[in-house]
Amino acid sequence: MRKPIIAGNWKMNKTLAEAQSFAEAVKGNVPSNDVVDAVIGSPALFLAPLASNLEGTDVKLAAQNCYFENAGAFTGENSPAAIADLGVQYVIIGHSERREYFHETDEDINKKAKAIFANGMTPIFCCGESLETYEAGQTAEWIEGQITNGLVDLTAEQVSSMVIAYEPIWAIGTGKSADANIADEICGVVRSTVEKLYGSDVASKVRIQYGGSVKPENIAEYMAKENVDGALVGGASLEAESFLALLEAVK
Ligand code: PEP
Repeated sequence: MRKPIIAGNWKMNKTLAEAQSFAEAVKGNVPSNDVVDAVIGSPALFLAPLASNLEGTDVKLAAQNCYFENAGAFTGENSPAAIADLGVQYVIIGHSERREYFHETDEDINKKAKAIFANGMTPIFCCGESLETYEAGQTAEWIEGQITNGLVDLTAEQVSSMVIAYEPIWAIGTGKSADANIADEICGVVRSTVEKLYGSDVASKVRIQYGGSVKPENIAEYMAKENVDGALVGGASLEAESFLALLEAVK
């Protein structure tokens, strides 16, 4: 049985005061960790204070990115070792905004995944196709390629424990969510790609999220699908009330 995981991706939003007041509003109100993993993907700047605000609660933290080296002359980057040292458990990698605006490649993302595991954290590995690819009917091949290239040399144990988020680019921040059947079908492509690479035991364990305009009003449709184990949520994770409503809908 795969435990659901709902992860908010705040992107480059909020001030420290806003982040902390969100933490105050949610911390005693999230469902137990035994039922669902509740994760906040905060800007790196707020991870240290949030880690102390949320210590001992059922809310976990994710960084939205990290570098693949632990230390060195990499001005402006964030070390995965330093992120892990704060008590952060997840790192989002390969988000389409990072692939598009910061030119991250499958190879970079693969290096980051290895560095995240090496530091005892769990990657939330994003994949997803453009509208052009979707309309050309090439989604399955595209997703298979991103997964195959992104998981190179990861162990079966690592892949079993990771989270993969399927996020069609045309559904992110557009209000135009993918139909739940399509989300299930493509999350199924993710699972069958993992099965081809690692076998059925690993494929049955890896948690797969859908992301793209998920809201409290539509999350139940996705969560009812066999291959969808959670959601990666941008806009609807920014307000405490809405984040809590997403969690309530899956518990
Ligand atoms: C995201 O940022 O990963 C995302 C899915 O955003 P939104 O929920 O706003 O579409």
